[in-house]
Amino acid sequence: MKLDKVPLTVLKGVGTKAAQKLAKIGLHSVADLLFHLPLHYQDRTRIYAIADLKDGMQVSVQGRVLSCDLQSGKRRILKCKISDGSGSVTLNFFHFNAAQQNSFVKGALIKCFGEFKRGYQGVEVIHPDYSLLASLEKNAIEASLTPVYPSTDGLKQNSLRNLTEQALAFLRQNKIDELVPLKLLTYPISLNDALYYIHRPPSDASIEQLEAKTHPAQQRLILEELLAQQISMLALRADAQRHQAIPFREPDILQKQLLASLGFSLTNAQSRVVQEIHTDLQQATPMMRLVQGDVGSGKTLVAALAALRVIEAGYQVALMAPTELLAEQHLINFTKWFEPLKIGVGMLCGKMKVKEKRSQLENISLGLSKMVIGTHALFQDGVQFNNLALIIVDEQHRFGVHQRLALREKGQLGALAPHQLTMTATPIPRTLAMTAYADLNVSVIDELPPGRTAVQTVALPDSRRDDIIARVYHSCKNEGRQAYWVCTLIEESEALDCQAAEETANNLQLSLPDLRIGLVHGRMKTIEKQYVMDFFKAGELDLLVATTVIEVGVDVPNSSLMIIENPERLGLAQLHQLRGRVGRGSVASHCVLLYKNPLSKSAQQRLHILRESHDGFYIAEQDLLIRGPGEVLGTRQTGVATFKIADLIRDQALIPQTQQLALQLMQDYPELIEPLSKRWLGEKGQYVHA
Ligand code: ADP
Ligand code: MG
Repeated sequence: MKLDKVPLTVLKGVGTKAAQKLAKIGLHSVADLLFHLPLHYQDRTRIYAIADLKDGMQVSVQGRVLSCDLQSGKRRILKCKISDGSGSVTLNFFHFNAAQQNSFVKGALIKCFGEFKRGYQGVEVIHPDYSLLASLEKNAIEASLTPVYPSTDGLKQNSLRNLTEQALAFLRQNKIDELVPLKLLTYPISLNDALYYIHRPPSDASIEQLEAKTHPAQQRLILEELLAQQISMLALRADAQRHQAIPFREPDILQKQLLASLGFSLTNAQSRVVQEIHTDLQQATPMMRLVQGDVGSGKTLVAALAALRVIEAGYQVALMAPTELLAEQHLINFTKWFEPLKIGVGMLCGKMKVKEKRSQLENISLGLSKMVIGTHALFQDGVQFNNLALIIVDEQHRFGVHQRLALREKGQLGALAPHQLTMTATPIPRTLAMTAYADLNVSVIDELPPGRTAVQTVALPDSRRDDIIARVYHSCKNEGRQAYWVCTLIEESEALDCQAAEETANNLQLSLPDLRIGLVHGRMKTIEKQYVMDFFKAGELDLLVATTVIEVGVDVPNSSLMIIENPERLGLAQLHQLRGRVGRGSVASHCVLLYKNPLSKSAQQRLHILRESHDGFYIAEQDLLIRGPGEVLGTRQTGVATFKIADLIRDQALIPQTQQLALQLMQDYPELIEPLSKRWLGEKGQYVHA
């Protein structure tokens, strides 16, 4: 019996309803369930000494009550402290009754199970399972450690344990296919053995080792999962290479004309990347290239030069930006550059008036707009390109593998796939790039145009607000500079965020009646936003209050001061991007991170990194270490952030090895690509057809 063909409904307790719930977390077959691996373990097999507890452990302890106090305040908490001689732990109860409270008399013996936290007030546990004992206990309660599975609403741990128990019974009768030849693995443990162990570790297993995921059984699966991920990326890349694309080999007259009109020359790094793109575009297979370059490194121009090659040959180019504001910025630049060259530049975004949209759509389908700029709207139904041959995606980090593929399909021109160029200011650390972007070639613009000065960054508490306001005044009034005041997310709601920005603008205007203050936020109409931005650009505003909508693309060289409120709420890469809005001219620029006290330790650490470094790569790497890959890559990168057992940070030492293995497997065992990626990536892996 093939366990990946056995539906979950064969298990006791799984009807249609339950099956639907299980499907929600990607579980369809008995094999899926076997690869649904525990996140954590609980040890109910023995009693731990309190002194041995490590942060996050889910185990049992026992001890005598030292004290029991009712803490009042916003919330009543019953705090019962027990000791076993080796140390003490506080049991916290938010819900309790009088009988419970009365039972915790001094000297009473208690056994409790829960997740223990080591905080600055010592070891604590919230709402443990507990019982009062007549005498100290020693005996084992369960034969194996208790697994804790990833779950979803309405799916209880107990039923997951029951289901995996049944699945393991199936495993006893039927083997799971051993896909990767054992001789290639560091720990040649059979898949069956590894799965048993991980689902039901024996009572003498080390919970520390299991939690650290360093047990050989876990390492064996981690390696296989990383391998599956690598190999499916490689397959994706090979697949892209099988598509045909139009090669562009014409002389580059338009490029030369644009360069001659600029008044500056390309940096060495820009020239190098332009050349790399040129080489790709000459091939008859589609370019899949990612250009990474810090904010202000001049990516837009590089993209424009790539576009000109394609336009020169008579084809269309689309440029997709993540926000309307950014699309509009690009429109301004491209119009300035391309109009003198007699190239039609079109624009398409969601909020356009019907009439305008119709005429833009017509220009696009007739091929009158050779360069088309827009948001996601560019690739919605009803948009018909005339002969699209190059797709440029700005701020790539917001798109995942699937979006890249969807774009390719949309841009398909008969049998020909479009070339793809993606640009990001968020550098992806090497280990992540190898996995998340293994389907792309990467170019790096590692040099800023000359004359830029580093942005001096300071972090100040909110109590210094008045000083900062005075500084803004000085900079704008006495030095003739412009400034940004950025209000970051207060709540998880765009509406509240915009409201906060409005209030800030009003308050600042009251404090600074002499300054001309403007406001932009995400809820304003495109045309209003553009109006304010144009005003600011033209120097008609001194201070621009904004939400993070100005994160990318806004370019006003005269602004040399930026205040960022609540910087502790943002990721480092995002703060670095924001800060990149200043320091675009030749004067010294400053960025003030105006934080709210008290700052958590990790927030202090993050702000410190930003003050110390201007290197986007270093900053991104640190961000990754502090926040983890899911956050850094953005939520859309689901294919990467959700591993079953591997963790790109924790397991990064394994990545070079898996890369090697993946190449070897591609060569020697190509038939394994599909089953491996199906096993580990499930539906996410369906884009791999080897
Ligand atoms: P980013 O990489 O952040 O997208 P932009 O493309 O917006 O950067 O470029 C920032 C600014 O630098 C723009 O005003 C652009 O015209 C200018 N710029 C680009 N390349 C050069 C260069 N080689 N020399 C001088 N200025 C440049
Ligand atoms: Mg840009």
